[in-house]
Amino acid sequence: MHRERVSENVYWFQSDVYAQVTAGVIVGPQWAVVIDTLALPDETLGMREFIEHELGVPVRYVINTHYHADHSWGNCFFPGATIIAHTRCRELLIERGIPSLESASKQNAALKQVKIVLPHMTFGRGEMTLRVGKKNLTLMTALGHSDDGISVLAEEDRVLFAGDAFMPVPYIVDGNVEDIVASTKRISRMGLENIVQGHGDIILRGEIEAAIKENLNYISAIKKAVRTAARRKDPIEYLEGVRIEDCGKSRVYLGGLAVSLHERNLRALLYHVQSGKDLE
Ligand SMILES: [Zn+2]
Repeated sequence: MHRERVSENVYWFQSDVYAQVTAGVIVGPQWAVVIDTLALPDETLGMREFIEHELGVPVRYVINTHYHADHSWGNCFFPGATIIAHTRCRELLIERGIPSLESASKQNAALKQVKIVLPHMTFGRGEMTLRVGKKNLTLMTALGHSDDGISVLAEEDRVLFAGDAFMPVPYIVDGNVEDIVASTKRISRMGLENIVQGHGDIILRGEIEAAIKENLNYISAIKKAVRTAARRKDPIEYLEGVRIEDCGKSRVYLGGLAVSLHERNLRALLYHVQSGKDLE
């Protein structure tokens, strides 16, 4: 696991083993707030070890940016912490998280120690503020990657923990394309120093504008490709020819996962159009 200080009392972590997934911690004088847990128990425990022993504080709150396994299944390693998430995140963990952990733990012995811990405190719209020492954290809904997304802004530091609402390749299969455009545009107006994406590397101030543009262009490009495909006799065959580079993204992103995310985006959008929905 990679670990780095972003600004005073703000750190981020990145997994070496699963899809470059990230997490964060904001440290106050008496306790810390964790933003997301990592994919596998060992890494989440490593993060807790660092917070408790090197930073010297317990974790009082864990914020889940959404219900996907690689962001929320480590809640159980922070016993006693209050878990905060979107209201829909709690529902999705019940509907999908619990059954999917049950089947995943049959394949992966490391998951046997995992238990889904449901969020204790939730909100469904607007914002929520959490004060940690002298810092204000603003939690806000950030949909598009999923219907339960939230981002966390460290107000004074202008550091945004975006969750998967911002990724090196936007991924909308479990979400909605218009929502991700809205979330991305909102991020562009925040005046940020850094974006910690849900996966991939931290984005520095000088890179933010280009990253936002690249993501918005990517979304427009896949929408255009799918509109064209839908008019063809064999739309799937047409989409197979739409490479990630044609949409302005590199295939090396996310340790090689980028191409499969891209292909799944195209299929999901095509399905969306074929089931009679509009692609504006
Ligand atoms: Zn996700």
